[in-house]
Amino acid sequence: MPLVKRVKKKTLKLDCEWGSCQETFSRMEKFCEHVEAHLSAVNLDEDADGERTCLWRDCGFCSVEGSGELRRHVFFHCYHTKLKQMGQQVLDAQPEVGSCSIAHHNRNIIPELPDNFVCLWEECDQPPYENPEWFYRHVEMHGLTVDIPQGECEVPIRCGWKDCEATAKGRPKLREHLAQPHTGEAGGLSRLWRDVRKQHKVL
Ligand SMILES: [Zn+2]
Ligand SMILES: [Zn+2]
Ligand SMILES: [Zn+2]
Ligand SMILES: [Zn+2]
Ligand SMILES: [Zn+2]
Repeated sequence: MPLVKRVKKKTLKLDCEWGSCQETFSRMEKFCEHVEAHLSAVNLDEDADGERTCLWRDCGFCSVEGSGELRRHVFFHCYHTKLKQMGQQVLDAQPEVGSCSIAHHNRNIIPELPDNFVCLWEECDQPPYENPEWFYRHVEMHGLTVDIPQGECEVPIRCGWKDCEATAKGRPKLREHLAQPHTGEAGGLSRLWRDVRKQHKVL
């Protein structure tokens, strides 16, 4: 998808929407680090098994399953913010595509995330990720490091994801494939991913 590649090079404007915070970042590393500080403050405020409320603007989520759930949730806001930015850049570049399909009132409603993000690449023993950004970078790494059969060109590369039968012609195609969700154990999550990306016209 050459369109996305071109757009990726632009600077991102990642706005923190926690409470009254007005900070803006251009890199996900700094953005997530910053948001983590908000999370630490929440955890200091509440007792160990208390409810924790997400203060992201227009969200209203309340976590009852402990700090892990809220962390995952809030990191998803970061990831979602990035997707929205990338989608916006696509739209800005070609207004004829139409506008974002997400209504303003639910612009920051994110799906339920029951578990951390698990890599199912064969023989991968990476512990699950709480942050979807790092998870996706990790999965992309498999696409970058997988052995490509020597010899004839156009030898199909098999995807190493559990129960995935897909093959790709060349590394760029494999990366494209890996940027899309897989079914199986992570099925529910995969659907969610596809929806978020599709809604924001990122893939
Ligand atoms: Zn902030
Ligand atoms: Zn939230
Ligand atoms: Zn959007
Ligand atoms: Zn992995
Ligand atoms: Zn696959």
